[in-house]
Amino acid sequence: MTRPEKREDASPGRRPCKPLNTVIANCPPSGIRRFFDIAQQMENVISLGVGEPDFVTPWRIREAGIWSLERGYTTYTSNSGLLDLRQRICAHLNRRYGADYDPVSECLITVGVSEGLDLALRVVLNPGDEVLVPEPCYVSYAPCVEFAGGVVVPVKTDACDGFRLHAERVAAAITPRTKALLFGSPANPTGATQSRADLQALVDLAVAHDFYLISDEIYDRLTYVGQHTCLGTLPGARERTVVLNGFSKAYAMTGWRVGYVCAPEPITTLMTRVHQYTMLCASHLAQLAAIEALDNAEPDVEEMVADYDRRRRFFVQGLNRIGLDCYEPRGAFYAFPSIRRSGMRSEEFAERLLMEERVAVVPGSAFGPSGEGHVRCSYATALPLLEEALERMGRFMRRPAPDRLDKGEAPALRISSGLGAGQGA
Ligand code: PLP
Repeated sequence: MTRPEKREDASPGRRPCKPLNTVIANCPPSGIRRFFDIAQQMENVISLGVGEPDFVTPWRIREAGIWSLERGYTTYTSNSGLLDLRQRICAHLNRRYGADYDPVSECLITVGVSEGLDLALRVVLNPGDEVLVPEPCYVSYAPCVEFAGGVVVPVKTDACDGFRLHAERVAAAITPRTKALLFGSPANPTGATQSRADLQALVDLAVAHDFYLISDEIYDRLTYVGQHTCLGTLPGARERTVVLNGFSKAYAMTGWRVGYVCAPEPITTLMTRVHQYTMLCASHLAQLAAIEALDNAEPDVEEMVADYDRRRRFFVQGLNRIGLDCYEPRGAFYAFPSIRRSGMRSEEFAERLLMEERVAVVPGSAFGPSGEGHVRCSYATALPLLEEALERMGRFMRRPAPDRLDKGEAPALRISSGLGAGQGA
């Protein structure tokens, strides 16, 4: 009989336990969250960090939530979500984009896009399947692929052409194991949008090489230049495309946790199977509030979008003026300027900017190695605060770097260790 292996973490008086899941244990914690937890404890900080609307949910939607609570809508709904809501979502996508999804069999209400993303990857992937992911990208993409047993294959995008996702680069990364392409347009952290022609080229590749398309369209309404294209409407796309969307960004409903998936029936059937065992349903109250959002909140959305657009133009112009070169982000609410002129790496830049000028931004490296040389700034922040942030950032950029070092103002905080590629939100 062989002796059981001695476990390293055994401490006196404690019985050792078997190691936990290695994929999850090896996934570093979200650098973004940790960074902003630190920033929150500091005074007078202007945060351009968290990707969240600064508006509260429009009153009519909140009122619908209160009304639902008063009426006692506190039960589970069907696993797929309220049919009334699914019908409105499909009608909304049809009206805006000409999409054609059946509310009964091709639409599932999820707990935010976050759950939709997780479900989509779980039903599409078998262990070892490869998922093409543009880089830089939203911090949750890579961990979710790995949690679902997949392997991330990054596809680099660059600031010089507005972070366009080139079909040629995608094609070069395809292997026999390629199972899906996961991306968002408009994108987090770059604010990039893909043209219809570029999207069609990606669909053509997916058809030619038989892989799925997982399209995160959470920022669809926050498109300031050109028109959003719902990927599932492009020729050839429908049968292999999972469209993810939700209420968090367009309706300022991040805390309500309502999202949806539109996809062909074989995909939604399997997604619903996982969802019914793991989540059961999205919150009943939040689904009723989402119905109100679709029925009556269009003027609120248009007002918020117009406001983001004003801030976008003001902020991006300001960044370029102070030496933080920034291409024009066409969607979402992020600017992703180059910090090349500062001579710093993005983690150092973000740390020093926070410590010296009390402005919180996210180091570009948090979004993958190709994000290095940039920082992400959210302009979902009131104009006077953006103005003050630019003032502080300008002062920071004008101060010679050695001066900062000589003054012994090196930051006392270390955030770098957790800020690697593809970390959680
Ligand atoms: N997808 C992207 C690109 C995001 O930026 C976010 C949130 O920041 C999400 C998904 C998560 O959205 P939800 O609140 O619907 O879960």
